[in-house]
Amino acid sequence: MKDVSYLLAVYQDTIAAISTPIGECGIGIVRLSGREALPIVQRLFSRKLDNRRLVYGHIVDPDSAEMVDEVLVAYMKAPHTYTREDIVEIDCHGGAIPLQRILGLALRQGARLANPGEFTLRAFLNGRIDLAQAESVLDVIQSKTQASLRLAMQGLDGKLSEPVREVRRSLMDILAYLTARIDFPENEVAEQDVREPLEKARSALQQLVANADAGMVYRQGVRTAIVGRPNVGKSSLLNRLLRQSRAIVTPIPGTTRDTLEETVNLKGVPFLLIDTAGIMESNNVVEALAVERSRKAITQADFVLLVIDTSEPLTQSDRGLIDLLSEKTVLVAANKCDLPRRADMDELPWLQVSTSALTGEGLEGLETAMVNSVLGGKVVTSDALLVTNPRHKEALQRAERHLRLARAALEENLPDDFVTIDLTAALNALGEITGEAVTDELLDIIFSRFCIGK
Ligand code: GDP
Repeated sequence: MKDVSYLLAVYQDTIAAISTPIGECGIGIVRLSGREALPIVQRLFSRKLDNRRLVYGHIVDPDSAEMVDEVLVAYMKAPHTYTREDIVEIDCHGGAIPLQRILGLALRQGARLANPGEFTLRAFLNGRIDLAQAESVLDVIQSKTQASLRLAMQGLDGKLSEPVREVRRSLMDILAYLTARIDFPENEVAEQDVREPLEKARSALQQLVANADAGMVYRQGVRTAIVGRPNVGKSSLLNRLLRQSRAIVTPIPGTTRDTLEETVNLKGVPFLLIDTAGIMESNNVVEALAVERSRKAITQADFVLLVIDTSEPLTQSDRGLIDLLSEKTVLVAANKCDLPRRADMDELPWLQVSTSALTGEGLEGLETAMVNSVLGGKVVTSDALLVTNPRHKEALQRAERHLRLARAALEENLPDDFVTIDLTAALNALGEITGEAVTDELLDIIFSRFCIGK
């Protein structure tokens, strides 16, 4: 583990970046952070800036005296800013040319182009937010549904960091006591119960891990392959789920040649639906390609919605598909339930919901079953605290494993050193979540996922 405070020395320079999408948007923002942010912008701006005042004026190229854009500029003095450094934001017109021109002028005046996520990295390094909160910034930006936004906001608010810190504090207490006992065996160190707080900490971590899979479903969404032989009603069902016509529905088998992808929000869970062309054996080249794509979609999917036309007996193609799905989490839409049933559905080993994509019957039940299948019954309530980040889950699991080892060492009355080694490892694992114990490689990995300007 490395102390990252040395990084602060590196980050004495002033950074600048375009913080909004570049394109034909109405407005765009060029943001600067660092000691020189104010003097740099002041050399480019026609008016005098004042702390926390939005000032109207013009950006002027100091070399050519050319007027570049009409802007609004906000100066925010450290430390009450996003990065805890001086920040200047220039609201200009959103086109690529004004944005790049203004950024170019700022760079020429001595700013450095920010690295991906560097504004947020500075907020972390300057102690305004911890690492888990910094990562939540990205989750807020990328959240796909209201529920995932709410969970991301919890993270940004430090709600996950709280229990992690609490567990860390109690482990430190235990560690301090055991270390004292090791260092001063001859002295009287007042006897203290270790097992109970250790067990409490372990079970708190276990609780967080138990809900993590559901949390990740909300955060990342579920890649869902809708599969079935041609003409069973896949596209019609997809349309029902999307509540709009996205896939073309025709009565001719095999018309969905390409795969379509669309995210649909079912009870707060983002499902990325992949409509696959019907899987069936064929010599036709296009069909064969479509079949291959479907197989690939199944492999990549976290979850499969298998559509069966119950108005006809199961066919060889149906059975071929069923064989492909043995390793998967599958839900069956027993479709065309408006017609007399001729399929023997007992052959299928998965949960089934009767639907009619034609009349809409059973669609509500299908949605509920889909959500339950991927969440394992853990629907997020407004106060639920869910770990949503795989990195956090892994660190929590590692910490919990070390606490189990520590408990075993205690039970076997092994020397205290055995216990403290695992306690220290657990503390470090938890420190990786909040950022108390991180390596610069880990920071690189985390912040490289951000875009420039964030
Ligand atoms: P896909 O090839 O599996 O995507 O099937 P489509 O969605 O294109 O549907 C094929 C045909 O079946 C179309 O004519 C649909 O209108 C019809 N269809 C789809 N679902 C139902 C249903 O639940 N009941 C009835 N009666 N017809 C349906």
